[in-house]
Amino acid sequence: MTRADTPWRATILTLYPEMFPGPLGLSLSGDALARGDWTLEARNIREHGLGRHRSVDDTPAGGGAGMVLRCDVLAAAIDAAAVGAATGADDPRPRLLMSPRGRPLTQARVRDLAAGPGALIVCGRFEGVDERVIAGRGLEEVSIGDYVLSGGEIAALVVLDACVRLLPGVMGKMESGVEESFEGGLLEYPHYTRPRDWEGRAIPDVLSSGNHAAIARWRRAEAERITAERRPDLRDGSVAGQAGSRSITGPSRS
Ligand code: SAM
Repeated sequence: MTRADTPWRATILTLYPEMFPGPLGLSLSGDALARGDWTLEARNIREHGLGRHRSVDDTPAGGGAGMVLRCDVLAAAIDAAAVGAATGADDPRPRLLMSPRGRPLTQARVRDLAAGPGALIVCGRFEGVDERVIAGRGLEEVSIGDYVLSGGEIAALVVLDACVRLLPGVMGKMESGVEESFEGGLLEYPHYTRPRDWEGRAIPDVLSSGNHAAIARWRRAEAERITAERRPDLRDGSVAGQAGSRSITGPSRS
């Protein structure tokens, strides 16, 4: 199945459009971009900056260090980037704001996003964004982990990579998506390949037995053991399941 007629559509709002597609121009995601399974547009927030210097930020109300992205500038960038902005039609895509304060990204949310029409993703910088634009433009704050990055671009690349590999036809076999970590609340079982013996470590006998039922039981037991050891939270359900725009296409396939 291909989505050539309705590609999954990603729009990124950033101060650094050159950071896209970055690593997503290679391998599975790059091939899918070249095929037109998804599209990527990285738009420069600064196009909507104010004054001669196209200023996008200002000092924090109440004082303190750093700068804050202005709500009026960001709102103008979001409004101009919406699909159908020219005709006034509603953009059906979710609007994400990359934020360490956001709900942690999960495979379940990634599956939802991949099943939809695409995403508009706002990348913060500096101290973050003026709070009012979050409610004003219905932004969903999404975190990629409990640490602080210097900007939202790498976080946006993470979201895109996780979504694009799930689009129909992007992975070689759909099974490789179904049996992975986090599907069914488990981390994945261990993998092995040749050589059979390596530095005194052998592949578990069951994997060479040809007994598919026994192999499936062993893999399930290993997945449960590893999950119990490393991520018991998964089983108990506590983890919810320059200037200018750039239209980016994949690398040419020679
Ligand atoms: N002052 C903010 C705070 O303490 O929460 C951190 C701002 S951070 C230096 C700048 C931008 O990087 C954020 O606005 C966000 O877009 C992005 N960012 C940083 N860490 C992130 C994370 N863990 N997940 C998603 N985005 C992140």
